[in-house]
Amino acid sequence: MKLVQTRATQNEELKKVKLSEALLSPTSPHGGLYAPRKFPLISRPYWHELGGLKYADFALKIIKLFDFDVKNSLFKKAIARYESFDNPKKPAQLKKLKKNLYINELYHGPTRAFKDMALQPFGEILSGLAQERGENYLIMCATSGDTGPATLKTFADAKNIKAVCLYPENGTSEVQRLQMVTMQGQNLKTIGIKGDFDDAQNALKTLLSSDEFKGELKARNLSLSAANSVNFGRILFQIIYHAYAYARLLNKGVINDLTSIDIIVPSGNFGNALGAYYAKKMGANIDLIKIVSNENNILTEFFNTGIYDLTNKKLVKTISPAMDILISSNVERLLFDKFGAVRTNELMQDLKEKKCYQITQDELKELKKDFIADFCTDKECEKTIKKWAKKGVAIDPHTATCFKMVDKDRLNIITSTAQWVKFTPSMLKACDIEYKNEQEGLLKFAKILDENVTKSITSLFDAPVLHPDICEISQIKEKIIEWIKK
Ligand SMILES: *Cc1c(COP(=O)(O)O)cnc(C)c1O
Repeated sequence: MKLVQTRATQNEELKKVKLSEALLSPTSPHGGLYAPRKFPLISRPYWHELGGLKYADFALKIIKLFDFDVKNSLFKKAIARYESFDNPKKPAQLKKLKKNLYINELYHGPTRAFKDMALQPFGEILSGLAQERGENYLIMCATSGDTGPATLKTFADAKNIKAVCLYPENGTSEVQRLQMVTMQGQNLKTIGIKGDFDDAQNALKTLLSSDEFKGELKARNLSLSAANSVNFGRILFQIIYHAYAYARLLNKGVINDLTSIDIIVPSGNFGNALGAYYAKKMGANIDLIKIVSNENNILTEFFNTGIYDLTNKKLVKTISPAMDILISSNVERLLFDKFGAVRTNELMQDLKEKKCYQITQDELKELKKDFIADFCTDKECEKTIKKWAKKGVAIDPHTATCFKMVDKDRLNIITSTAQWVKFTPSMLKACDIEYKNEQEGLLKFAKILDENVTKSITSLFDAPVLHPDICEISQIKEKIIEWIKK
């Protein structure tokens, strides 16, 4: 199967690319992305059969259905990366919280956020493809906090790869920042920028489409790619854990063929939610995908009014920094899937030129078949955190946004995107617990919960800072070139 461009003009023939090409070069014509045009449909009996498999085997079966050009042996190696997770057999852990409420814990990887679920295998594949082709790549990412550590980790000392990560100075939690500035690897570079996540993502998009920058890299034998969820390689692995949760519930007899479930997703760049939508398209009996935002609630507005309006918005800092985003890149893939490349191009051009786009009421109705959206304030989040902490369950501030969307009369799966350890100050504040400093507070809260904190987190506070650089947005390109020359 091939992927197609998401933006096109009237009568333009859509460019089709192989998965390997989309991984290595993720931007498509007119500044768009790549996405599948059709999805393999899994039959009812096959869902039951798949539900009996271990995660790694399930993942390989799902990938096989797409018939992509990447070799099965490389996918196998990629999936084997899950062996570094807390429980190698269960990288994603589906747990029952109470009647009708499950939580899909996706943070059991090396950097303690769900980004590892996709970036761990993705890193193996990208490095593998680069080696097969005898090419060298500069992989860039912009991060609102969790993509950065996960990207650096997956590429640390990978062959034929250099990785650069841009993070907003003061825009991430302290643990997220420490993860990035202390990450070891000869081939890694972390740069803090004076701006917010949208600035970082815009800088990344500008560099990705800059012929001048690419020329300078070429002169040093490097091609450019990106590890953000603009890359379809990320999305592929994000379909799998939603589909697996559904298949497991079916296999265990919690639901039957006629029962539909709802999936609640704390959203930022919309990659995770898109994965759930694609799982639905593959036949998982998901009724609603519930999109939750923090006070940066542009997605709530969009799914309720059909208007995506950046003109009157300013990014607000919240206790869920990984969702402090206004430009949600993956909504584009949803628009493409529902309304086609020509319409998507129109809307995306409006966004670029007018900082606003509006879909019709009929189009909105179409989106509402699959999605509803709401947002959660920090105050509401803190209440949820406190309530569950009292029961001995630590819910991080991102995942906490989901609870207000639970429908007691239906089976809900909350998608849990990070472990609380990355956000200790917010957790302790929510629970009215005093602490001296973050390190002491972390251990104190862990003791209350009777949880172990991984060494990857506890060791951060004493680790040497290897990447101290902070720069203006206008200096990013120079900084990168300077580093590459070394
Ligand atoms: C990245 C992230 C999100 C948002 O996920 P998207 O796929 O960008 O919508 C939510 N929570 C956490 C903890 C994250 O790291």
